Amino acid sequence: MNGDLGGHAAHTGDPWQTIRDVLRAEYGERTFESWLKPIAYVGVEGSDVLLSLPTHFMCDWVKSHFAERLRALWSFYVPGIRSVRLVVAPAMRVESSAAFPANDSHANDTVVVDPAIEEPELGARLEERFTFERFVIGKSNEFAYNAARRVAEGGPINFNPLFLHGGVGLGKTHLMHAIGWAVRQQKADAKVVYLSAEKFMVAFLAALRHKDTISFKQRFRSVDVLMIDDVQFIAGKESTQEEFFHTMNALIDDGKRLVISADRSPYDLEGIEERVRSRLQWGLVADINPTDYELRLNILHAKAEAMPGVMVTPDVLDFLARKITSNVRELEGALNRVAAHASLIGHPITLDFARQVLADVLRANDRKITIDDIQRKVADYYKVKLSDLLSARRARDIARPRQVAMYLAKRLTPRSLPEIGRKFGGRDHTTVMHAVKRIEELRTTDSELEADLDRLSRLIDG
Ligand code: ADP
Ligand code: MG
Repeated sequence: MNGDLGGHAAHTGDPWQTIRDVLRAEYGERTFESWLKPIAYVGVEGSDVLLSLPTHFMCDWVKSHFAERLRALWSFYVPGIRSVRLVVAPAMRVESSAAFPANDSHANDTVVVDPAIEEPELGARLEERFTFERFVIGKSNEFAYNAARRVAEGGPINFNPLFLHGGVGLGKTHLMHAIGWAVRQQKADAKVVYLSAEKFMVAFLAALRHKDTISFKQRFRSVDVLMIDDVQFIAGKESTQEEFFHTMNALIDDGKRLVISADRSPYDLEGIEERVRSRLQWGLVADINPTDYELRLNILHAKAEAMPGVMVTPDVLDFLARKITSNVRELEGALNRVAAHASLIGHPITLDFARQVLADVLRANDRKITIDDIQRKVADYYKVKLSDLLSARRARDIARPRQVAMYLAKRLTPRSLPEIGRKFGGRDHTTVMHAVKRIEELRTTDSELEADLDRLSRLIDG
């Protein structure tokens, strides 16, 4: 089939509106509301689209999570657009790009609406579909799932806090919300507070500013379950971070059930004091591992069934489960995207169609870098044996390449320090940390090493 999507690109009307509709369908309501809706269209400069966000934090987040998708959609709907620039602009807001194509460079004249108002309410809404019932269990997540169930059941729990960790898009937030729903189901008036660490931090800083940390803690007194998501965001923010964890300690001492998530284990939360870290480890640390094929397929089946009126054949589901291995969010996003495109242009969901719609995602998933890959290429490059690289030998001609390989593993893969250590002949995470620091130091002064790293990165990146 030559079902070229180009015809669709000759889109009339407001491209930004269309792109927003597609994004909403692809990422779901919650993500859309939190991250994508706040994006304002500013204008066009040459082949660049300018978009703005109200804060640095959001801008960084959108850059790292959605920039590539935004670019792909813009260039798909508006031929001639080659890149997307994201800027921070607190009080800018243009709801649509109706004036498009505004091919003049004054397009960043903007409409100013009221500046953002800080919301007083602590805690965010729980997402409807993030329930235990809709969480698909597999080998990689069953431990975390069971732990979450235990917390939700209440009763005499013998661990507190529950610390959930795993790579992005593997279901941490889903499990937290599920705990919230389940607790409320048992006790309608249970007070469940779920919020991002970032929000917790903002509220906490405000309390600090008003010298009012006591009443800040009071606000949590009546809470039954407190859940704080993505605490890696506050790690390393020294002065406030410490206070932040003290507050959490107080809550634990108070017998509140606490659930915390991060994209890495407490070990790997760099820049957190040792005693705080060990406090976190007193609870239960449950990791969510990357998915296997079987789980991915089961998740796709469940999601496809929940899409009314959408027919996805088993071969498409199998294809997605095999190809999109990065995380569940991308997997889900891919399915949503295929379904959204199909319904927008009235095309059946065939394998070919899925391939075309997902070309960029598939490419990104193909390019996935593994630690094995890095080890092989580094050994090759330095002409040392792979077995030596993984051995206990400390000879300098082996030790340096090994450090380089560890460094690259940390830089180029989402693996944690302990995971990397295990891959290097079962070394301790502190060894890996040391290697990373060492290479980071050296590369600033040693231009030969710098050149090696550069060449190696390119070799590995393909
Ligand atoms: P994280 O917080 O770990 O980054 P999320 O909890 O936001 O990830 O999950 C990303 C998306 O993937 C959500 O839409 C979630 O519902 C879905 N998801 C993740 N794991 C599962 C699972 N085991 N079963 C069903 N959906 C899942
Ligand atoms: Mg999350």
